Amino acid sequence: MQPDLLELVQTAKSLYERGYSFGTAGNLSVRIGDIIYATPTGSSFGQLTVEGLAACDLSGKPTGPNKPTKELPFHLAAYRARPDARAVVHLHSTYATAVASMRDLDMQNALPPLTAYYAMRVPSLPVVSYLPPGDTGLAVEVEKYAKTTPAMLMRNHGSIAIGTTLLEATALAEEIEETARLHLLLGERAHPLNDAEIATLRARFAR
Ligand SMILES: [Zn+2]
Repeated sequence: MQPDLLELVQTAKSLYERGYSFGTAGNLSVRIGDIIYATPTGSSFGQLTVEGLAACDLSGKPTGPNKPTKELPFHLAAYRARPDARAVVHLHSTYATAVASMRDLDMQNALPPLTAYYAMRVPSLPVVSYLPPGDTGLAVEVEKYAKTTPAMLMRNHGSIAIGTTLLEATALAEEIEETARLHLLLGERAHPLNDAEIATLRARFAR
């Protein structure tokens, strides 16, 4: 189902109320036709309105009066890489950001496949190199990774989830956060799924 703007506002509020976003951290966007609607700059997920959302075309040119989040370039990059994408959820949620800030991080795949749902949804979790928020270099890496996976972390920053619906992107962002939480809870005691178990899952539940 095509996302709509009220769904975006309600999703942001739900994420805020459940502690996935705080202050003015994070941003969301949806694609409807050839227009991207994004959270406005400096906004809180808890207080968005449909009228306050920022609209632009696929190149980032504004089509309405509101100024989008300064992180818009990597949203646009995700839509370029994935023509079927209709939503991008970017969070600074606590556990994903904690993992993204760890020493000795596997930059090609930051989290182990601890659960079946995570393994089915996330083929790999690459980490976008650290650059200041809004730096256009972030978009270059996001565009590269988004061709092979809908999920990534941003070094010392947060997570990005891409979906064909807003519900799918949001569920993916929550899955990344919960797996990051399990990973930090378990530490050395973790027992990830093995390659054979993951291959069986992917064969059985392939989309
Ligand atoms: Zn951010």
